Amino acid sequence: MKIVKFVKDSEAAYGIFNNKIYGIAGSIFTDFTVLKDYVLVDEVTLLAPCTPSKAVCIGLNYNDHKKKTDLEEPTLFLKPPSSLNNPNGIIEYPAISNDVQYEAELAIVIKKQARNIVVENAYEYILGYTCANDVSARDLQKRDGQWTRGKSFDTFMPLGPCIETDIDPHNLDIKLYLNDKVCQSSNTCNLLFNIPELIAFITEVMTLYPGDVILTGTPAGVGPMQIGDRVVVEIEGIGRLENTIGNVRCR
Ligand code: MG
Repeated sequence: MKIVKFVKDSEAAYGIFNNKIYGIAGSIFTDFTVLKDYVLVDEVTLLAPCTPSKAVCIGLNYNDHKKKTDLEEPTLFLKPPSSLNNPNGIIEYPAISNDVQYEAELAIVIKKQARNIVVENAYEYILGYTCANDVSARDLQKRDGQWTRGKSFDTFMPLGPCIETDIDPHNLDIKLYLNDKVCQSSNTCNLLFNIPELIAFITEVMTLYPGDVILTGTPAGVGPMQIGDRVVVEIEGIGRLENTIGNVRCR
């Protein structure tokens, strides 16, 4: 099932995408029923499919990017909720960076409050999966040593276009296109730490809430984007998350 969030006539709502977008009654995190009334995709603006209180991100988690050692643990960092961006939204190129890069990632969307979850129970806490672009000002990330500034600009976390609830997250082709050229191409079977392992590791540290996301890391092939570029994260079974790079707008 593909859960989408959209705006129509200035009102945000959730729906289920199946050629058309069918309305729902209830909460996507607990119980809902799918209604008969629908809108067409062309009639709405898609939003990021959840509004996380935090995004927990994993550094270097693909075995085409690096090799796992027995002693190793996942590297965690956070992106703030203010970095959230929508499908088709503009990624704003900060004036203080000269090296803004894409990172195609599978994102886990949390279904219910989770703390100290063991690997065996991890899937109970997952609503589904979406595409993410962990946009990074690489020059600032390197200069600062820690990653907060380089990863946290407003618009640096596009999510979408939907939350797919019924897929095997460990066998999905993941690709990044920059202006239609394939720049990253891998499969989630290459994740070093798998999804239950990540949930167990993170919830030993912090509570995850419904709608929080985990960005599971990016495969090899990261690189720079320029103003005017079009960037697409495509994950098999989920869809295409498309954004453009633009100037910083006044808010
Ligand atoms: Mg990343």
